[in-house]
Amino acid sequence: MHEASIAYELLNIAVNECSKNGYSKIDTIKVVVGRATGVMTDALLFAFNVLKEDTVAKNATLIIEELPVRGVCKECGKEFESNENYIIFECPHCGSFSVDLISGKELNIIEMEVSQ
Ligand SMILES: [Zn+2]
Repeated sequence: MHEASIAYELLNIAVNECSKNGYSKIDTIKVVVGRATGVMTDALLFAFNVLKEDTVAKNATLIIEELPVRGVCKECGKEFESNENYIIFECPHCGSFSVDLISGKELNIIEMEVSQ
């Protein structure tokens, strides 16, 4: 459900950009999704493919690039990275739960290919 509303949002932005710039067709949309967003990329792709049908993006391919979670520990100061598909707020070095997230919450369109 979460993914459906995100797909809707992304599609909206892409379609608006496309028409604003006078293009009539979207070929590809590339997005980055941080793993700390909790977004399931399969579900996002599925929702996108359903929602795109009645839009100028109906032939568009959604390319999803996943970004790892990066954090820094407030206790020991070390940085760490996780490729797990969930948020790890525990420092792998000292076990502290006092951790700041550096990246992993991104959810943006970074590239779009359009045509007339
Ligand atoms: Zn630590």
